[in-house]
Amino acid sequence: MNGNMDYESFFKQSVDTIKNEGRYRVFANLERQAGNYPHAINRRADATENVVVWCSNDYLGQSQNPVVREALVEAAQQFGCGSGGTRNISGTTHLHVILEEELAQLHNKEAALLFTSGYVSNDAAISTIAKLVPNCVILSDEWNHASMIAGVRNSGCEKLIYRHCDMTHLEELLQGVDSDRSKLIVFESVYSMDGDISPIGEICDLADKYGAMTYIDEVHAVGLYGETGGGISECDGLADRLTVIEGTLAKGFGMVGGYIAASNALVDAIRSNAPGFIFTTTLPPPVIGGAIASVRYVREHNELRIKHQERAATLKRMVADAGLPLMDSVTHIVPVMVGDPVLCKRATDMLLEDYNIYIQPINYPTVPKGTERLRITPTPFHSDELMEDLVRALVEVWQRLELKQAA
Ligand SMILES: *Cc1c(COP(=O)(O)O)cnc(C)c1O
Repeated sequence: MNGNMDYESFFKQSVDTIKNEGRYRVFANLERQAGNYPHAINRRADATENVVVWCSNDYLGQSQNPVVREALVEAAQQFGCGSGGTRNISGTTHLHVILEEELAQLHNKEAALLFTSGYVSNDAAISTIAKLVPNCVILSDEWNHASMIAGVRNSGCEKLIYRHCDMTHLEELLQGVDSDRSKLIVFESVYSMDGDISPIGEICDLADKYGAMTYIDEVHAVGLYGETGGGISECDGLADRLTVIEGTLAKGFGMVGGYIAASNALVDAIRSNAPGFIFTTTLPPPVIGGAIASVRYVREHNELRIKHQERAATLKRMVADAGLPLMDSVTHIVPVMVGDPVLCKRATDMLLEDYNIYIQPINYPTVPKGTERLRITPTPFHSDELMEDLVRALVEVWQRLELKQAA
């Protein structure tokens, strides 16, 4: 027995490994300034700089929308700050009920259920759904987000991973599953590291053919796509065919929290069974008040979505025209390939230090090794002028580090 185990050394070793691989993460110490999006103050060790944020998931700047800020403050004044409990034990306020109704309507579903985050909603809902049906097999896209993988794992059910958006492979796997077993296909609409979109209609066709349920993560699409911001499923008129639509309040809606929208029976079952829903204090009333205002605002302002798409298309064109290796993206995500973790980190350090441009490097395990990239997220608030500054800086950084140009 070793009574003097040096536990600390294990933690240090783990971090050293990450550092040696060039993927040690440093948080940017930012002060966002309400009303001045996408500008922020960066508090560096030695200086304080004004920077332009180019990597936020606050896609529509809703976190700073005066309407949302006002609703949040008003809810705090009226109902107080904390919710005071779990949903079962005094934590359900009238605001929670209103927001769930609003979200159910957004997705044209009978009901919706709130969770403390999108991560928790995926983990709790996927694991619980799969446990509740007999002998379930989960079919999961290989690029699914960590929160969906957690849900699949925590279900304890058999899982089959299909190649990203490969419908032939998905069908092969479905054919191999006994027809009397329950099946759940889990996937995302917009994959946010590449900016591609799943063939939702084809997945629904296969689900119908093989008697499977469908669970779609629309986290990077809610608020951003469809006439009222219902996501790609609204855009494509497919909401009715999906068993569960999952979303977040944290990205397009600029707040925090996650949710699912589905049938009354399914939502009631999750509400009654999922530990990740039952055993945690629910979101505070100010957050819910802000979220209601944000969802309503975003539903009514389609021009925000049109502008968002125009901004992304403009930036993509400028990046490509400059000879930079823009990756294929059919959405608002503008990914630029670097292909090396150390260079990727060095490029973003240089952008921040020398150009006051903040883009977080995207490294493993968020993306596969060798595909390290810059992931740029223009919003309706990024002007032509800011884009010109950005592209000029990128071109210089590409030259200084001798990074790969477009093929
Ligand atoms: C960000 C993200 C989540 C988690 O949502 P949060 O509300 O941030 O917890 C879930 N799925 C995908 C695909 C995401 O990118």
